[in-house]
Amino acid sequence: MTRNWSPKFWSRRTRWIVAFVVIVSVIISARPVWHLWRAVQRDHGALREIPSGFADDASRLNLTKINRVWDIPQDTEQAERQLAELLVLARRERLPVSIAGARHSMGGHTICPDGVVINMRPFRRMRLNDAKDRLHVQAGALWEEIIPFLDEQGRSVAVMQSNNSFSVGGSISVNCHGWQFDRPPIASTVESFRLMKADGNIVTCRRSENADLFSLALGGYGLFGVILDVELRVVPNARYRMEQFLVSADDALPTYDHQVRDRPDVEMVYARMSIVPNPLFREVLLTAFIREEGDIPKLHDPDHAKLHRAIFRGSAESDYGKELRWTAETKLQPWIAQKSVSRNQLLNEKVAVLQNRSATSTDILHEYFLPRSGIVGFVDEMRSIVPKHRCNLLNVTVRSVNEDHDSFLRYADQRVIAFVMLFQQPITAEAETRMQAMTRSLISCALSHGGRYYLPYRLHATSEQFHQAYPQAARFFEHKRQHDPDELFQNQFSRRYGHIASQSSDNNP
Ligand SMILES: Cc1cc2nc3c(=O)[nH]c(=O)nc-3n(C[C@H](O)[C@H](O)[C@H](O)COP(=O)(O)OP(=O)(O)OC[C@H]3O[C@@H](n4cnc5c(N)ncnc54)[C@H](O)[C@@H]3O)c2cc1C
Repeated sequence: MTRNWSPKFWSRRTRWIVAFVVIVSVIISARPVWHLWRAVQRDHGALREIPSGFADDASRLNLTKINRVWDIPQDTEQAERQLAELLVLARRERLPVSIAGARHSMGGHTICPDGVVINMRPFRRMRLNDAKDRLHVQAGALWEEIIPFLDEQGRSVAVMQSNNSFSVGGSISVNCHGWQFDRPPIASTVESFRLMKADGNIVTCRRSENADLFSLALGGYGLFGVILDVELRVVPNARYRMEQFLVSADDALPTYDHQVRDRPDVEMVYARMSIVPNPLFREVLLTAFIREEGDIPKLHDPDHAKLHRAIFRGSAESDYGKELRWTAETKLQPWIAQKSVSRNQLLNEKVAVLQNRSATSTDILHEYFLPRSGIVGFVDEMRSIVPKHRCNLLNVTVRSVNEDHDSFLRYADQRVIAFVMLFQQPITAEAETRMQAMTRSLISCALSHGGRYYLPYRLHATSEQFHQAYPQAARFFEHKRQHDPDELFQNQFSRRYGHIASQSSDNNP
């Protein structure tokens, strides 16, 4: 028997039901569609060009007049010779030298006023050893160049950030970490590197050779010399299955303990806290990637990038946008996300996908490291600190970082839980003052719970907070002056915290 589906043949009752369903669907979808449409319309900015003779970084708040940017040549022999000549010239002309990778640090760590900026980006050759467990890579290479190279060989990066837009030199100079489950920071995967010191000499640094420089330059913010190339331990690429747990904030730690922590097949883990206000952090979405057998999916462009961006950028605009994003991430994403994914695919996400392109605001990262015993108190206090300062919180991701045994200026002196927070900040003096006050409150809060903060971001910490968080910092700067007595290598970070005189500048934003 055939049915006729034309509305003409429907009964009156069926037509009413269909009309009702259509009207309700339109009403339900109208608000999110309107919200996303507006978010896309507003998202047309282009990042400002940096005028010649100036340098800036990812904060877009550090535009600084410099002497020049010097691009390192691609050819290794020319690069080393010309770099040594540049250092002689800079010393003669009393020009401070700073070093830049992808410039995603946010506190002028790659810039010194009236100085020379060495742009390491052209220096990016790489090769894998025969056993395919060591990558020899020049410091200017980005993870986004390294991952496809390793993918071809069935290998992957052992420890890196959650995005692929950073250089190897910049990553090891801040001693980054990622959401590779319970791994120490990247220094643990560095076998050796070659460093051009302030006197132009090149030394190889490893745990058994120039061990002091090895540990000082890892997380050394470019203050001990130019890292030329690095030997990194790499791991096999793998296929993962995603498991997620949406729980109340109170249940997050017990769920982590019972469902994730002790599973031998868990390889990548992060949690995201709900940033929908009233109350903040009500829920937590815990995501774990579990190793599984089977073919490893090929590396491809990210799925649904435009939708992802519209939802994310729209969340900056209103509480409704934040609610919509949380619903999309907790209810929609589990349905549309691929069930099996390669390790390399997870690591291969560009910062640009979600980057703020507006001329009137910028996105600023913060990160706090807490021992397990301090987490509950820290989160409780964050609930009042963030709204008090009226800062627009866009994201909180939580990961576990294991103890660092390698770097001198270490943040993970024990196993810690990292809270990575992203804020949207208007580019105004008033917003900068509020952000500074909030940052100092969050740092005090982390310190009072036995934690510390991460150094590559804005330099809002007071000198006292910096030295409390990093009690080894005074010795770090003493070592710096022993290795570089003329202080050729400088940047805004060393100027802010490396000199007694700079401590008077605590009131400047
Ligand atoms: C969106 C975003 C997400 C992030 N996520 C994470 C994360 O998940 N985990 C994490 O740990 N961090 C994260 N970070 C911070 C990031 O790891 C650091 O800012 C890192 O320095 C970025 O690398 P880069 O190449 O941009 O370094 P740059 O900003 O270029 O440089 C950083 C420091 O390294 C020094 N340096 C650079 N190259 C060399 C070299 N060849 N020799 C000597 N010194 C050098 C510079 O002088 C500077 O002091 C994130 C940052 C952003 C903006």
